[in-house]
Amino acid sequence: MGAGQLGQMLALAGSRLGCQMRFISPDPEAPAGRFAELIVADYENEEALTHFAEGLDVVTYEFESIPSSSVSFVAERVPTYPPPLALETAQDRAREKECFERLGIPTAPFASVESMTQLRSALDKTGLPAVLKSRRLGYDGKGQAVLRSRDDIGIAYVKVGAVPAIVESFVKFTRELSIIAVRSRTGEMAFYPLVENHHTDGILRFSLAPAPGVSSGTQSKAEEYATKVMNELGYVGVLAIELFETADGLVANEMAPRVHNTGHWTIEGADTSQFENHLRAIVGLPLGSAEMSGAAGMVNVIGIEPDVRRLREVDNVHVHMYGKSPAPKRKLGHITVTADDLDGVRSKVAQLRHALSK
Ligand code: AMP
Repeated sequence: MGAGQLGQMLALAGSRLGCQMRFISPDPEAPAGRFAELIVADYENEEALTHFAEGLDVVTYEFESIPSSSVSFVAERVPTYPPPLALETAQDRAREKECFERLGIPTAPFASVESMTQLRSALDKTGLPAVLKSRRLGYDGKGQAVLRSRDDIGIAYVKVGAVPAIVESFVKFTRELSIIAVRSRTGEMAFYPLVENHHTDGILRFSLAPAPGVSSGTQSKAEEYATKVMNELGYVGVLAIELFETADGLVANEMAPRVHNTGHWTIEGADTSQFENHLRAIVGLPLGSAEMSGAAGMVNVIGIEPDVRRLREVDNVHVHMYGKSPAPKRKLGHITVTADDLDGVRSKVAQLRHALSK
């Protein structure tokens, strides 16, 4: 369900595993439709969902904003992974943070707010600065506002859309990391090395893998947190958890119950890509190795169509375009670079970012 670039890369991984795939999306131009059967329909259209589910062995989703009722409708007909509970948890920032807290996973102190008055008193708990985030439908920094003083309350509340929200303490992080984990139908698990992520305006610009200078203790903590979440939710498939690294250790920011932009480098950089491992997990195959040799980097192509031929001239550079028409802030593609070590990756990433900024 969903047929964006994540669907495109799942379709490509699926063809190598011998899977026949069908997608559903309201967008007739959806990227995955270039590689597999696409049913064009609204997610709420039960007739289309029934037609979509017909003859399928297993269903998964690649888009977090699909109504969870539509995923549950399909799950009543065909085994669906990750379980709808995982989607429901990740779709609501309050439930997601409660899940982290219940499992003893450090997360920024937060409170749910439904009015400006509640926001005012919630700040007593979170302190300032704080971040207000809509409970639902926020991604790539959308539906968020930073409050630096109490004077920002009105503006932040309106910016987020005067909708149910959470407010949380601003985390003084040294960097942003993510863990990509996978759990199969038999409970087998695999973890990719932690990834270092760089955002601007809330949008991921580039990632480095493995995250430079991560201790084995930090990697195991991240794996421990992912294991707790996956076991709690009866999870099957790839799960991404975005983490802040702080002086006091890792702090969980959010989770995504799907393949993730910070795992795109695994196509060329790891023994098995996150897309193949997601499919292996949901169809009941043994997982592939999540190990990597050397280092990898991933740069997102955002907003403007690049000169792809020139980018392809760089050694060990892999350009993935999604066939979308350019629009400001839209992810149009990504580029993976591989090298023997992180220094090699860093210089290629810098070269690519320079070329993309022209
Ligand atoms: P999110 O949609 O929650 O991933 O937030 C988008 C980006 O905003 C994150 O990648 C961080 O760079 C920043 N951010 C979100 N929450 C916080 C926080 N509590 N403290 C500091 N920065 C944050």
